[in-house]
Amino acid sequence: MPYTVKDQREQRPLWAVIWQSGIMCRCPRCGKGPLYQGIVKVRSSCDHCGLDLSQEDAGDGPAPFLTMLVGVLILPPALWYEFTFEPPIWHHAFLWLPPIVLLTIGALRPLKALLIAMQYRFKAGEAEETFAEHLDDDEQDGAASRDAGPDA
Ligand SMILES: [Zn+2]
Repeated sequence: MPYTVKDQREQRPLWAVIWQSGIMCRCPRCGKGPLYQGIVKVRSSCDHCGLDLSQEDAGDGPAPFLTMLVGVLILPPALWYEFTFEPPIWHHAFLWLPPIVLLTIGALRPLKALLIAMQYRFKAGEAEETFAEHLDDDEQDGAASRDAGPDA
């Protein structure tokens, strides 16, 4: 049986995709080649399986998840500290800014990799192509009915 891209997507269980491709920041197809070139720049292709990664982009997708994650982790201790000790504002900047920056930088890579892996796994690109084809069909149908006029 020929080895196709579609087969490869379903070979690894979801937990392996989450761990290898998301948390470990590896290729969404094979889970072996590194995903990034630099800090958060996605490689043009996978070194291991050759998957074209140039179209893979999570855009601003990780930002809301990152905001919620950092907020959930930092807000409770910050509120507890505020209401218990009523410190001056510079205490908060001194205490919470470093963990916010470290958490943001530390979680951005795996979150972006996880979103790219999920887009690949659940065929987000194919959905866009299907939607675009559907739109093209509608435009052609609309043009045909407009050409035919009201009498047709
Ligand atoms: Zn790969």
